[in-house]
Amino acid sequence: MTTAAAWPVRLAAWAVRDERTRGRVHAEPGHPYRSPFQRDRDRIIHCRAFRRLMHKTQVFVAGEGDHFRTRLTHTMEVAQIARTAAACLRLNQDLTEAICLGHDLGHPPFGHAGQTALNRCMTDHGGFEHNLQALRIVDALEHRYAGFPGLNLCWETREGLLKRCSRRQARALGDLGERFIRRRQPSLEAQLANVADEIAYNHHDLDDGLRSGLLEPGELMEVRLFRESRDEAAGRFPAADGGSLASEAIRGMIDRVVSDLIETTGANLKEAMPEDADAVRSRSMPLVGLSDPVDKRHRELARFLTERLYHHPRMQQEYARGGAVVDALFNHYMNHPDQLPGRLSPDRERGAGALARAVADYIAGMTDRYAGRRCRALALDS
Ligand code: MG
Repeated sequence: MTTAAAWPVRLAAWAVRDERTRGRVHAEPGHPYRSPFQRDRDRIIHCRAFRRLMHKTQVFVAGEGDHFRTRLTHTMEVAQIARTAAACLRLNQDLTEAICLGHDLGHPPFGHAGQTALNRCMTDHGGFEHNLQALRIVDALEHRYAGFPGLNLCWETREGLLKRCSRRQARALGDLGERFIRRRQPSLEAQLANVADEIAYNHHDLDDGLRSGLLEPGELMEVRLFRESRDEAAGRFPAADGGSLASEAIRGMIDRVVSDLIETTGANLKEAMPEDADAVRSRSMPLVGLSDPVDKRHRELARFLTERLYHHPRMQQEYARGGAVVDALFNHYMNHPDQLPGRLSPDRERGAGALARAVADYIAGMTDRYAGRRCRALALDS
């Protein structure tokens, strides 16, 4: 019989190894054709929360333009960047991919505006954080399997999904939260997914910003990464028009940053030589990262996007509209808990906190268009 083990990938000593997984909360027999992390990746792709990413905002409100990124295409771009780097660094590609594909599952509708609004609504009930929500989805909220709640993912995949967490919240998460209390690092695969996310959204937001007309190619010349890449592209394609040069420039920027990520991380690993994945976890500083000059340029790009794109009056207007929809829905369902879907009905005995969490779960799961539709159907003032 052919099994996944018939094509052994030579992993580095510091990679997470399939056979050393800390396993799943509910024990399951192994699969003859797929490794544990391949199964995790497949479970994420087949879950409903993953499909909903198609209609959730990345930066531009989903549905506004057919060529803008959505959370789904962003997620795929993160996975593509991270897989390339994982292969070059001989990390566990399947685990890396599973973490990347699941990393944004917990995002509410309307991007960061939705997250901010929902967190504000939940102030008195433990707050709302999309990383923790991703974990709630894969641990409990998805209903696909008869044998267990959630997707029953491996510990290492769940570790990677939990990118951020307060110390208070970490204490409730047992060994998964320990690293936030002890200020330690997750696996290299999780570190890589995290950096790939930042690289993907910075560059793709720049691309979408240009496409939207909210950013002008001229003002981008203030960003060193862009300017250097565009000058290089102009040297290679002297007859190209401005649009093609901007595309070439962004392509060149991603290639430069990802190449730097691979080379810098490779050098960090060679120097640190962690014995295994647990030695990586026992460190206080990450090993995956960019060199100083590229890191500075990458941060400069992030700052530029914050000032010129995310704070652009038109974006702020859209964010305010999205936030108002979330606020209106939250208030409505807090006052009408009987209208929540049956599977989310909170135990009345457990009080307002349990109700608020159920309402947050419901709203966080909504796509932008569904949230808008609910608001209109309920004639809510948003
Ligand atoms: Mg992301």
